[in-house]
Amino acid sequence: MRMSKTFIKTLREAPKEETATNGALLTRAGFIHKEMAGVYDYLPFGMRVINNIENIVRDELNKIGCEEILMSTLQNPELWEKTNRWSDQEVDIWFKTEVSSGGIVGLAPTHEEPITNMVKNYISSYKDLPLYVYQFQTKFRNEKRAKSGIMRGREFIMKDLYSFNTTEEGLNKFYDDVAEAYMKIYNRIGIGDITFPCFASGGIFAKFSHEFQTLIPVGEDTIYYNKDKSVVLNKEVLLPEVLEELGVKREELEESPAAEVGNIFKLKIKYSEPLDLKYSDEKNKQHVVYMGSYGIGISRLVGVIAEAFADNKGLVWPESVAPYKYYLIGIDDKGAKAAEKLYKNHEELMILDDRDLRPGEKFADADLIGIPYRVVVSDKTLEKDSVEITDRRTGKTKLVSLKDFKKSCK
Ligand code: ATP
Ligand code: MG
Repeated sequence: MRMSKTFIKTLREAPKEETATNGALLTRAGFIHKEMAGVYDYLPFGMRVINNIENIVRDELNKIGCEEILMSTLQNPELWEKTNRWSDQEVDIWFKTEVSSGGIVGLAPTHEEPITNMVKNYISSYKDLPLYVYQFQTKFRNEKRAKSGIMRGREFIMKDLYSFNTTEEGLNKFYDDVAEAYMKIYNRIGIGDITFPCFASGGIFAKFSHEFQTLIPVGEDTIYYNKDKSVVLNKEVLLPEVLEELGVKREELEESPAAEVGNIFKLKIKYSEPLDLKYSDEKNKQHVVYMGSYGIGISRLVGVIAEAFADNKGLVWPESVAPYKYYLIGIDDKGAKAAEKLYKNHEELMILDDRDLRPGEKFADADLIGIPYRVVVSDKTLEKDSVEITDRRTGKTKLVSLKDFKKSCK
């Protein structure tokens, strides 16, 4: 990408009403554009981060046998009435809208009902199970407060996965597989050290569910943890009987704000029963299918990563999700020419800042955008057949030979 060609522009200041750090920095650095409270557009840099995160999620889920689909946003009320989740009294975050030919449809806040109904067409015998399907989909929720930047949207991208098994044991095994895959995902996107599986309430159908909580000061949730005993739980299960079962005392737990970046639920027959999703066994006897659902907040993750690593100069992206690996700046005629040449051979990996600006302004933008490595080519570095590489995270600079730099671009 050439800075001279892209339509985005970095901003010295964030819009006043953008109070969350992630929203302010991502706006200034040109990753997102705010339409209204809780509603954002993703610009080229933001889109690349989203794509990188999605590809890591996709890779880990495909490894545990999941298939990708994409379901509709518009929802048929009839389905949701069967599970008592259509009325605004039961679910208070629905966006609903009218169809021109008459009637009302909903904008999906989640997909348990339609997916259960859809797979009925493909599941009849035990031979059709297990089935694991997921999607990356835009969800709509009329959230009361949308003041955390892209960490809480009224429109946001979620990865939602649904599992269908013949038995509870099958469900339990897959649930553990997903928990493991989730930690691999969080590790790969750079937040493994600050993200923990956390006990949460599972309603009346499963005793616990798990949330994946990332420790950041601006997280909207509060978690309680004891590192030695590897116990992490959220506020709603901070009850005497739960503490006893987990073998910890209240005073052994530390409190911390955290952001929920994913969660996993054993739904069992909560949706398959009312929606009549059954399979027949070897003896042709009918049984209800065991289900699970598993979410990851893809767009929230972009905000969480921004919050977790940003410093006073701007964003700091882990290499695995960064929009580009290198931010290339050529200084003076010779440097600019050498930079052009490097760029032409490795366009996919780098941003070339070829704008007619002073080096200082380019350095400031490199820091604000948060590209992992700033690469400077100048008369001085060329005298030594080298480039100067600065690590955005540590701020450390080193001279690297052109040969080695080209090798690292392979
Ligand atoms: P929260 O408690 O934060 O409202 P939730 O329990 O409603 O989350 P789920 O319905 O299970 O969340 O959604 C799955 C994942 O989607 C969550 O773990 C979170 O990462 C993300 N998510 C939920 N609501 C939002 C939102 N309004 N904006 C962005 N991401 C969200
Ligand atoms: Mg919610």
